Amino acid sequence: MSIHGKKEAVVVGGGVAGITAATLLAEAGIMVRLIEKRPLLGGRASSYLDVQTGERVDECQHGTLRCCTHLAALFTRLGISDQLRYFDSLTFIDGDGKLSNISSSWLPAPLHTSISFLIFKSLKLKDKTAIANGMLHMLRSPSKPDLDNINTAQWFKATGQTERAISRFWRPILVSACNEEPEFISCRHSFKVFRDAFLANRNGFHFGVPTKPLASLYTEPTIKFIEDRGGCVQTRTTVVKLNAYENGINSLMLQGGESICADGYIVTLQCDLIDRIIPAEIIGINPGYWEHLKDISLVPIMGVHLWFKETIDCPPALALLDRKMEWIFNRSLLYKSAENAGTFLSLVVSASRNYEGIPKDEIVKTALQEIHEVLPDTASFQPTRTAVVRWPRATLSPRPGVDGYRPGTDCGADNLFIAGEWTNTGWPSTMEGAARSGYAAATALLTRWGFSPPAAIPDLPVEGLSKFLLRKWDI
Ligand SMILES: Cc1cc2nc3c(=O)[nH]c(=O)nc-3n(C[C@H](O)[C@H](O)[C@H](O)COP(=O)(O)OP(=O)(O)OC[C@H]3O[C@@H](n4cnc5c(N)ncnc54)[C@H](O)[C@@H]3O)c2cc1C
Repeated sequence: MSIHGKKEAVVVGGGVAGITAATLLAEAGIMVRLIEKRPLLGGRASSYLDVQTGERVDECQHGTLRCCTHLAALFTRLGISDQLRYFDSLTFIDGDGKLSNISSSWLPAPLHTSISFLIFKSLKLKDKTAIANGMLHMLRSPSKPDLDNINTAQWFKATGQTERAISRFWRPILVSACNEEPEFISCRHSFKVFRDAFLANRNGFHFGVPTKPLASLYTEPTIKFIEDRGGCVQTRTTVVKLNAYENGINSLMLQGGESICADGYIVTLQCDLIDRIIPAEIIGINPGYWEHLKDISLVPIMGVHLWFKETIDCPPALALLDRKMEWIFNRSLLYKSAENAGTFLSLVVSASRNYEGIPKDEIVKTALQEIHEVLPDTASFQPTRTAVVRWPRATLSPRPGVDGYRPGTDCGADNLFIAGEWTNTGWPSTMEGAARSGYAAATALLTRWGFSPPAAIPDLPVEGLSKFLLRKWDI
């Protein structure tokens, strides 16, 4: 208890999970200290400082969907909802240069995208029939455990998906949403993506992208929010260990030796780092909680950035079919950069195992070749600056059985709760999963102290015919 008579909490890790937990605690009147080892907040969803220009550059473009309601609630809490731009249509371009969109019509869910689908140029009728059959199967499927025993590639075979339906529809969406190849995606995860984004609600698939660098979204608004409520944010500060007393934590130690005490603690480090700072006494309370962290496989993602002096006519977000790169984002358009300021294109490859060990120049060459082919007007353009950012351990692999390795927020200690997108949120390893985990940890700590929990954040409502067709899942 602080001299102000208020409860004090420390949140370790300033990624989306830590920011969510810290802002909810601050809102509830707790004196919060948020500790982050890097200079800027956002964690894996953040930016680096370009040494040449001094600007903040996102390590990798991030996107969200309207069905990600906990992330949207965080943006509202921080007052930055207007800095996320949602698109009500997804644009794809295939290897033959044909453009297609997925967008809503007047039809009720789950039929709202069916008209755009009927005229989707990159698929033939046979592919569309197989996809419609697959969607119906997803709508009517019961929840686990059976769905978690089979991977999505097996399900493609079982439901007669054509090669083109897989390569030009299912795979591009799933690899982007789950950062994994269909052979390694549990059907529980792949079905969830399609049920939440495409089947339950007309707006679920709307794609949101930041109109500012991620670090600018998260850093200054979070610091202001917490400081306005009496707390503080310490960046460039590394926690080296927590100290235990009986069943709880009484302090933590920073690199440099300083000790910090609080009434409660929330730790949000990545699953491959967290047990380094948790004391053996706490692990001993419930060894089963920590046992399977080493069994969670992590999957890489790669971002390729190219700056051109020319203005390039490219939509803000373009999904590439039949290519090595998966998305092109026109950050100059998204950031509303000044006219004639050139163009900053950012490309993304999810589940990018094939690029580990490939030299940067070769990756840039591939990216540039694909830009030249997809946007033929750029054929003579060469970038003035390039960057390749590889995250070898970006997100967890949503393989069958992985949810059994993902523990909840309560590790059994009196005053310590755990968050992070890898905990058992029921969601893939995304910013939404991180926001949900931060919400769960803050709720658990507040409830343990006898405070009212934060207001519930509902999912998008199930609407239209989906109210009758979508079989409810128990989790
Ligand atoms: C390249 C890439 C692209 C992605 N694309 C998307 C996307 O498009 N959409 C999407 O929703 N998700 C995407 N993700 C996933 C998303 O970024 C993560 O799931 C989410 O940000 C994880 O948040 P977190 O708070 O749980 O963890 P983290 O962001 O990892 O936060 C943990 C924080 O703890 C800090 N920390 C670590 N050790 C210490 C210590 N000892 N002391 C103090 N602080 C410490 C770290 O610096 C970090 O800031 C992507 C991830 C990557 C890597």
